[in-house]
Amino acid sequence: MANISDYKIATLGSHTALQILKGAKDEGFETICICQKDKKRPYESYGVADQIIEIDAFKDFFKIEQQLIDQNAIIIPHGSFVAYLGHEKVSQIKAMHYGTKGILEWESDRSKEREWLLDADIKLPKIFDNPEDIDRPVIIKFHGALGGKGYFIANTPEEFHSKYKKYEGTEGHEEFVIQEYIVGVPVYTHYFYSRLTGELEIMGFDKRYESNADSIGRVAAKDQVDVGIETTYTITGNVPIVLRESLLPQAFEMGDRVVEASQKLADGGLFGPFCLEGIIDPMLNYYVFEISARIVAGTNPYVHGSPYTWLRYDEPMSTGRRLARDIKMAIEQNQIEKVLG
Ligand code: ATP
Repeated sequence: MANISDYKIATLGSHTALQILKGAKDEGFETICICQKDKKRPYESYGVADQIIEIDAFKDFFKIEQQLIDQNAIIIPHGSFVAYLGHEKVSQIKAMHYGTKGILEWESDRSKEREWLLDADIKLPKIFDNPEDIDRPVIIKFHGALGGKGYFIANTPEEFHSKYKKYEGTEGHEEFVIQEYIVGVPVYTHYFYSRLTGELEIMGFDKRYESNADSIGRVAAKDQVDVGIETTYTITGNVPIVLRESLLPQAFEMGDRVVEASQKLADGGLFGPFCLEGIIDPMLNYYVFEISARIVAGTNPYVHGSPYTWLRYDEPMSTGRRLARDIKMAIEQNQIEKVLG
């Protein structure tokens, strides 16, 4: 029988690396953390990495890739990994990679992502191709805007034009999407789908803690206007939430449909951790504005497991650990190809 000691688990030191590496160690793997020189402190302090490989910048990943191949390391992609390398570069990785690379192309392109989610019968906010058609609150999202910087809200074509004027002709603001603004609460659902067990699990939920959006309520409306506060959605952390229990069946079904639809898009389909990010309105409609086809930072509050993983596993089970367990199971069943892509 193949043995997990023949493999190592590696990831970039950022995003969800602490949880991924801790989970891998809990499952018995040796771990490698690839760190930017000035960012290694947490990975040393929390003792999650058996080995630290230093690079100047994440884009230098390919310079050390051979070291990973030589050690039979399996790379776990996360949000920063995909953001820093880009999905084209990820597809060139020769080292073992957990998850289907082909699916990343579908999550990183807004129109492809929409096609996928519509095919899965997921409710999406309406898109307005023409600003003149705006007939309700909309949110204008610039492509590639990091952390939702510069996103703005408008209610009419006139308001759109007057607010857009400021951005016209400036770099990074040429492309944008006009999306219906859903008034409700943000809910991010963390899933895990294993090709080995054929089962979809819900690992937990979170909402983001964004600056300054989450602090605007601390200032009176009049002051917001007087000071000219503009809303930004710079992510600074994640807040755990527990979903109203009667919404769980719907959340499971949405996850099932997304996995099923993914199988038509890329060989192997979507597996491992993923997340549906959306808003639940007062009629309990769950509108999804984004899918992440890999582990999300919203799972970080649950290093020791979430209320949901506690129901299912009588031991601490983070998403990072669940992922390592999937790999361990694949190795022990001689089916490693089922978790690589
Ligand atoms: P990306 O991951 O694409 O970089 P981002 O961080 O730039 O995303 P989003 O996650 O799309 O931006 O949205 C930023 C914030 O705006 C989030 O807090 C989200 O809750 C809110 N938001 C996004 N789309 C909508 C919508 N259609 N209706 C209401 N709120 C929305």
